[in-house]
Amino acid sequence: MAKTHYQLIILGGGPAGLTAGLYAARARLDHLLIEKGATGGQVLNTHWIDNYPGFPEGISGFDLMEKMAAQAKRFEMNSIMNDAVKVELPEKAAKIIHLDDGSRLTCDSLIICTGAHANNAGVPGEDRFLGKGVSYCGTCDGPFFRNLDVAVIGGGNTAVQEAEYLTKFARKVILIHRRDSLRAAKVVQEKALANPNIEFIWNSRVTAICGDKEVEAVEVTATDGQVSRRPVQGVFVFIGITPNNAGLPLDRLRADVGGFIPVDTECRTCVPGVMAAGDICAKKVRQIVNACGEGAVAVLSAESYLATLEHTS
Ligand SMILES: Cc1cc2nc3c(=O)[nH]c(=O)nc-3n(C[C@H](O)[C@H](O)[C@H](O)COP(=O)(O)OP(=O)(O)OC[C@H]3O[C@@H](n4cnc5c(N)ncnc54)[C@H](O)[C@@H]3O)c2cc1C
Repeated sequence: MAKTHYQLIILGGGPAGLTAGLYAARARLDHLLIEKGATGGQVLNTHWIDNYPGFPEGISGFDLMEKMAAQAKRFEMNSIMNDAVKVELPEKAAKIIHLDDGSRLTCDSLIICTGAHANNAGVPGEDRFLGKGVSYCGTCDGPFFRNLDVAVIGGGNTAVQEAEYLTKFARKVILIHRRDSLRAAKVVQEKALANPNIEFIWNSRVTAICGDKEVEAVEVTATDGQVSRRPVQGVFVFIGITPNNAGLPLDRLRADVGGFIPVDTECRTCVPGVMAAGDICAKKVRQIVNACGEGAVAVLSAESYLATLEHTS
């Protein structure tokens, strides 16, 4: 009969999950990693990674994730491709994972590494120019736009703070917002409004991202219907990020209003034996390097939790 119970199950095979898988396999824990798509997570869609340590020349997102997966496999990480469609966390009993194929697995300890995804603006050209001028991450891609002009879509805290950050690199940042005022906190707004390198275009939407091989311009449509074209080499979309939390018991995990999971410094959630790591966590910085760090910490916490079970059993 196929095995259905594990000491540890890891949900998600992005940087956080693969690091957790590496640590679990190396620690010889009875474990299983479940990934619903291609192993590697969001990084697979990232053309070039310049800020992951150990690669002085940078590395493609695909190659980096291939290396992470290969390293975990060297220690015989167990993984399956399946969608964890529902998670149940009963009090004082094994955690239950329902899979897409109708089967059910249980575990003593669970690490949630299901990540998140940036919200799309839904503008023509957005998908086509992803990684060729379109970005969802200023920290990741800002340095690629040194002395160039970029557009920022959004008007909340992240958009305004990232616009400010992008002025470190870009010659000019044009923030295009559909309202006549920003939603960002007053102090954030004041700083950005006083920055001579940020131009604000109010009451307007980006209606197309244009170019040949790379981004060359944005088409801007004002609420009065007037259409203009602004030459830019980059477009940063900051209209929110959505956690991949479908099927998770969000109330039990005390998820925040955005659906992200709060954890302590040991990556423990409020449910004993359940850890979370990476972009699914309620936190400010979402980068590969801290996702990996948290994946490692989460396994060490799982080991401590499992040791307490051994003592009580
Ligand atoms: C365009 C872009 C560029 C970026 N560039 C950089 C950069 O240059 N440097 C940097 O450090 N960071 C960058 N980031 C951020 C980085 O990609 C994330 O911080 C990192 O991928 C988070 O890793 P994670 O493992 O938490 O989640 P993810 O990478 O999101 O992986 C989560 C995985 O879980 C799987 N999953 C989800 N739900 C389920 C389920 N129910 N069952 C099974 N599997 C599931 C998903 O399929 C996915 O593979 C970038 C992000 C974007 C969007």
